[in-house]
Amino acid sequence: MPTPASAIETRDVMVVLGTRPEIVKLAGIVRLLGDAASIVHTGQHYDGNLSEIFLSQLGLPEPAVHLGIGGERRGTQIGLAVERLDGLLATRRPDAVVVQGDTNTVLAASIAANAAEVPLVHVEAGLRSYDRRMPEEHNRVVADHLADLLLSPTEVNRANLLAEGIDEDRIVVTGNTVVEAVHELLPPATERRALLDGYGVEPSAFILSTFHRPENVDDPDVLATILRELGALPLPVVLPLHPRTMASIDAQGLGSLLAPLRVVEPIGYREFLSLGAEAALLISDSGGVQEETSVYKRPLIVVRRSTERPEVIGTFAERVLPGPAIGDLARSWLDTLADLHDRLADIPSPYGDGTASKRSVAAMEELLHA
Ligand code: UDP
Repeated sequence: MPTPASAIETRDVMVVLGTRPEIVKLAGIVRLLGDAASIVHTGQHYDGNLSEIFLSQLGLPEPAVHLGIGGERRGTQIGLAVERLDGLLATRRPDAVVVQGDTNTVLAASIAANAAEVPLVHVEAGLRSYDRRMPEEHNRVVADHLADLLLSPTEVNRANLLAEGIDEDRIVVTGNTVVEAVHELLPPATERRALLDGYGVEPSAFILSTFHRPENVDDPDVLATILRELGALPLPVVLPLHPRTMASIDAQGLGSLLAPLRVVEPIGYREFLSLGAEAALLISDSGGVQEETSVYKRPLIVVRRSTERPEVIGTFAERVLPGPAIGDLARSWLDTLADLHDRLADIPSPYGDGTASKRSVAAMEELLHA
């Protein structure tokens, strides 16, 4: 009599991803699925800095299929990915499709799996910003309503889904798989500090920042405001520049505002975690960074109109709009930095204990055996 664990290895689970956060958060699940998993990369972000280095650092194989849909407008990306996935699903007929998060890839794969009548698993289900201006909000709402199994990081996410009438039998609260990714990939302190030398910064004496959301980088005034605020901070600011942000800076002629900043290319996951864990504080509009800082216990200023991750607000993070609030909050935190770090060190992450990947695979086994 095979155990459920051995049975899932005989299954065919198509894991569809297209960006760096999806690789980070699906890695543990893919590894636990073993031979059952095969990766389809849509190409939403396919380059060395945003994809290949993440696959290799997180111990994932080269994707079995590349759909090559990068660099298009949102509607075209989604349309092309649905069409190409539809062809793939028709010939492959996998037992399940797994997606993670809120990208265009997630929306496309959810529609394609639903149309092909293949069970759909949504990892990181139930996040809501209730901000309809964010494309990600539309992607995640549609994915949740199409999914057959919804794996929610927290009880907050589960409550969001129940409020939308989603059947509680389809929802399992797992924690967030990012917790185990950080536990596995964050280098020890000695290695982290050696890396700081290469950036010319010292522990707790620099700020790490990232920006890439359309609300912050598409409008030249907003982008200039953010870059000016970063440039006026009293500590060095390391800024790995996302290609979207770099393209916007070039197009708007804002390059001179980068002069006071330590601008670098997007960096690999181990390096980024190292810098984050050693920073005095972080300033970002990233989703994943909001979760990761709660694991390595550093304070984060979230520069956004809204957040779908309220669990960290008031402890690890505060949210502000682009403007003087960025510098004001950073300076007030720096005034009492050691106390702030001490306080955060004792607060558990709201995203769980590092077992979310295991819980997710257990829930998938149940789905496939039902
Ligand atoms: N990240 C990284 N290198 C960088 C910037 C970000 O490894 O130069 C990681 C970060 O730790 C997080 C993920 O990329 O795990 C977040 O990606 P992004 O901000 O692009 O997406 P979001 O989480 O906002 O969807």
